[in-house]
Parts: sequence; structure tokens; C-alpha cells
Amino acid sequence: MKAVAYSIKACEKEILVRVNNKKHDITLISNRLTLETIAYAEGKEAVLVFSSDDLSAPVICKLSEMGVKYICTRSTGTDHIDLTEAERLGIKVANISSYSPESIAEHSLALMLALVRNLIPCHNQIMHYDFSLDDLVGTTIRNKTVGIVGFGVTGQALAEILSGFGAKVLVSDIRDVSVKAGKLKAKQVEFHDLLSEADIISFHVPLDDSTRHMVDAKCIRSMKKNVILINVSRGAIFKSQDVYNALQDGWISKIGMDVYEFEHNVFFFDHSHQPIEDKLLKAFIQNSRVLLTPHQAFLTKEALQIIATRTIDHLNRWANCKCRNEACRNVAETGTSEQCNGPADLGSSVSPGALHGSIKS
Ligand code: NAD
Repeated sequence: MKAVAYSIKACEKEILVRVNNKKHDITLISNRLTLETIAYAEGKEAVLVFSSDDLSAPVICKLSEMGVKYICTRSTGTDHIDLTEAERLGIKVANISSYSPESIAEHSLALMLALVRNLIPCHNQIMHYDFSLDDLVGTTIRNKTVGIVGFGVTGQALAEILSGFGAKVLVSDIRDVSVKAGKLKAKQVEFHDLLSEADIISFHVPLDDSTRHMVDAKCIRSMKKNVILINVSRGAIFKSQDVYNALQDGWISKIGMDVYEFEHNVFFFDHSHQPIEDKLLKAFIQNSRVLLTPHQAFLTKEALQIIATRTIDHLNRWANCKCRNEACRNVAETGTSEQCNGPADLGSSVSPGALHGSIKS
């Protein structure tokens, strides 16, 4: 099958090429998919994308006009894809769910530990050979109440880790997850009870209409004063300006953010020679009580291997007209040859390798 993979980073390219093993003809480019870069999809049946790519209705419409029949996002979240438009146009969409929940959970924990033990101020001090202790007094996680919002696979992986720390874990979810929670020594509670009781809150919900800006000024005032917030799900779960204001007025004590509401065009690119213009992002970065990472919770060797393998699996199924499970998300039931589009081209090889597309958006 002929495909183009957008937003390919050097660190994932080698694994994808190895897993593909010359089976599909995949053009790898570092550019984000936008209307400006859509021409790379000309003549392809599938596009492989990431959460930073633009798959809004106009882009999907254009892809359809160009003959693209399949979209596979190398992410769990699908909030960057207009699924309704894809379905309307008969484009099949696949995502990669549950690829390595512990990668995301461990990153949440890494942010949590770094914040409660003041590792960033400590590192800054040490760089100046200041080995004093007075500003580095931390707290334990043991006996603290940690709230997990969204108890899917990454939330559960975090609960499992935290039970080993001796934390009291509260979870909230729109589904009844009380039995699963109980098995992991956690307790399901109402969202507002979690907010009022937790010392630390970690967010693990998908971004949709029900979760966009779920953390705004009103929500923050329901939290304990001096709460620590961790966001490893999607930036727009936080209403960023409200969160920053609450950090400034001291209601929020510290924040660990792997995602940021306005991260597109900034995260995943080296801006060291091209200053960023987003004043709010700069303010977060410059605040010593904020630990920001550039959407890297997923970025482990283990996760990259699984993401690459399952991406190629999706192409295999589509090429063989065997749509199943998430590979046929927009298809009513199990795919049939009628639902697949055209014969497979299994004899082609990976395009001559090197990343191309030098535009940095
Ligand atoms: P999941 O689908 O397994 O779990 C999501 C959970 O959130 C479900 O249990 C669902 O019922 C619950 N939920 C949905 N809406 C809710 C609401 N309004 N209130 C409370 N709970 C709600 O997903 P996951 O694999 O745990 O991942 C969660 C999200 O994390 C993904 O959707 C993705 O956006 C993000 N993510 C980020 C990274 C990263 O690198 N930072 C990596 C993977 C996933």
C-alpha cells in the first residue's frame, strides 16, 4: 500500500522503517499535515499522522478528493481528527490505543516526584555549585491523596504504581470503574469530591466536548489550596490562562504539564534559534513551580516499537481487505472486501528512507 507518514521524528523513523520491512511504500516526512503540506499525500491510499497533524474537515475533504482512503494516527487520542467528516467520506480511521500505558503513567509519576522533591530548583542550584538545603524541603507521596481523573488504561497504570507508594488514590470517571479501582486499592468518587480531597491531581481523560477546559477558574476553586496538578492527557483539558492565574495567586502550588493547550506548531520542533511568540507558554516555562515537557509521555522505546508495529498492522489489514477492530473504526462491522478499496499493493518498498520536507512549521 502507498502511504505517507507525516510528522515523523528522527527518533521513530528507524523503528517504523524496520517494522515495515519494505512491505508498504511509505514516504516519511517531518512536516505536519496541513493544507499547505497536503500535496505529499497525492497518489497515496493511506496517511499516517500524529496528534500534531491537522485533520480538520477541510483537510479530510481534500485528502478524500486526492484518493486517500485510510488514516492511521500513531496516537491514542483522536481529537485532532474530524471523525464525522471522515465517516461521511468513507475514509477509515485507526488509532493506536493502550500501546504502553505504563509509559504515560510513569511520566506522570516522574513529573509528580520531580515537583514534590524540588528536583528542578535543586538542579538549578547545583549548576551554580550551591549545595544548600533550605529551599529544597519536599513532601512524600506516601499518605497523600492523589486524584486520577479518567480511569482508562493510563489512569489504571498510575493507580497501580501509586498503591506501591502508599498514597490514598481517588479516581473519577464517567463510567462505573469502582470494581477495577478497588482491585488497585483506589476508590471511585464523584469529580467534585476528588477535587476537594486530593493533594495531587493527574489528568488522564481524552479531549472531547465534555473534557475541554474541565479545569477552569471555577473548577480550581473547588480544589484544595496548594494542590499540585499533572496533565499528561491533552493541553485543552486545562483552560490555560485560568490555570496560570491560579498558579500566580498561589491556589495551585505546582504544575507538571506534558501537554499544552496551544502546543501545535511549537512542540516537537527546535525553537532554540527561533523564539516562540506565545507569551503564556513563556510564562509557564519561566515559572519555577512549573515543570513542562514537550508531549513526551509516550516517548519510550517500548511504546515506539508497539506504535510502529500496530501502525504497520493497520496497513496490512487494509491492504488485505481485512478490516478489524480499531482499524475499521468508521466501518459498521467487520470489514469485507466490498468495504475495502481496491487491490493491495504488497510488493512495494519503503521510499528511499531519509526524512524529507525541511519546512519547520
Ligand atoms: P482510555 O480511553 O483508556 O481512558 C480514558 C478514560 O477517561 C476512560 O475511562 C473514560 O471513561 C474516561 N473519561 C472520558 N471522559 C471523561 C470525563 N468527562 N470525565 C471523567 N472521565 C472521563 O485512554 P488512555 O489511554 O488512558 O489515555 C487518555 C488520554 O491521554 C488519551 O485520550 C490521550 O489524549 C492522552 N494521551 C497522552 C499521551 C502523551 O504522550 N502525553 C499518550 C497517550 C495518551
